[in-house]
Amino acid sequence: MDIFEKDREYIASTYARFPIEIVSGSGSLVRDSEGREYIDLSTGIAVNTFGVSDPVWQKAVTSQLAVLNHMSNLYYTEPCAKLAEQLCLRTGMKKVFFSNSGAEANECAIKVARKYSQDKYRKERFRIITLKNSFHGRTLTTLAATGQEVFHRDFTPLTEGFLCADAGDLDGIKEMCEGDTVAAVMIEVVQGEGGVVPLDPVFVTGLADFCASRDILLVCDEVQTGNGRTGELYGYMNYGIRPDIFSTAKGLAGGLPLGATVIGEKAAGVLTPGSHGSTFGGNPVCCAGAISVLERLDAGTLEGVRERSRMIRETLEGAKGVRGVYGLGLMLGVDVERDASAVIADCMKNGVLVIKAKDRVRLLPALNIPVDLLKKALCVLKRACAGA
Ligand SMILES: *Cc1c(COP(=O)(O)O)cnc(C)c1O
Repeated sequence: MDIFEKDREYIASTYARFPIEIVSGSGSLVRDSEGREYIDLSTGIAVNTFGVSDPVWQKAVTSQLAVLNHMSNLYYTEPCAKLAEQLCLRTGMKKVFFSNSGAEANECAIKVARKYSQDKYRKERFRIITLKNSFHGRTLTTLAATGQEVFHRDFTPLTEGFLCADAGDLDGIKEMCEGDTVAAVMIEVVQGEGGVVPLDPVFVTGLADFCASRDILLVCDEVQTGNGRTGELYGYMNYGIRPDIFSTAKGLAGGLPLGATVIGEKAAGVLTPGSHGSTFGGNPVCCAGAISVLERLDAGTLEGVRERSRMIRETLEGAKGVRGVYGLGLMLGVDVERDASAVIADCMKNGVLVIKAKDRVRLLPALNIPVDLLKKALCVLKRACAGA
């Protein structure tokens, strides 16, 4: 059996894979089993922050790997303490809980929000409001939080206590909060899986003010928007707000599984010994990777993200077959006249990897993608959008 057959035989059929096998890569270039090379604008879905097997990141990870690969959370280890310090110093938050994925980071945020509310008020104040078209993960609780029915089907009953509001409808959210049963509102400032849809700044700041006035926690899901992706360290920073809790994962460790739930002043004391835990959470190798990623996300790198973002917009906006470009930084969705899947297939044929978000073509390049490679990829994409 070749790899395609073996995969189809033995891997659970949850993924509609593209018909190529990626075997290696370097930065923003990846190679398939036939020796063909691709410019990668997908980064393992916003995970490979500085591309594939980046040498600086690799050194940080392998040095740690040689010293201590894992120890349980029953002991102190240096990388997780240092990473938590960095996350707090860079955001003004107070405490970090480490896990292994976006869904887990959100689960922890939800637990913290509920416990905060129940410790301080009463046990009926447990509801969490999320937005239509959101995506928060695949566990039964984060599915309940996800405001897209297609993901719920076949898996009911989901965790109860979630309310779904229209993005932008602050009055609707205020109405849901009457009766004082709401503990938190959770948002993605740019809805990634929902088609790369940025929230309206007036709505976001209005929501932050309203939540603060009612002691309802504002939770930002920064799993995809975090870690420099939007041109700021965390997506909410584009909006001039400060959430009470944010979750992140995907690009945090630059290509290793690591989730973080980052908790501000208000809820800093909520998690107590035994109230939550994770076997792998805070793994030293993953944390060493994340420290290396965060160190490099300085003002210069973030400006580079914004510059590349402008270049992409200037190239694609108004181009033949392009209705619009949405998103922030290097998290962009291209609304195309052709079927997005056909555009993606044409790009792949011509050596460029892009992915889909709803019916848009989603671009998530490495934050340091060389400008000449990006230009080359955009030429290919532009032609594919035009159907030429
Ligand atoms: C990808 C994603 C998740 C889920 O992350 P996993 O690591 O797959 O569990 C949650 N929220 C958002 C916004 C995401 O983009």
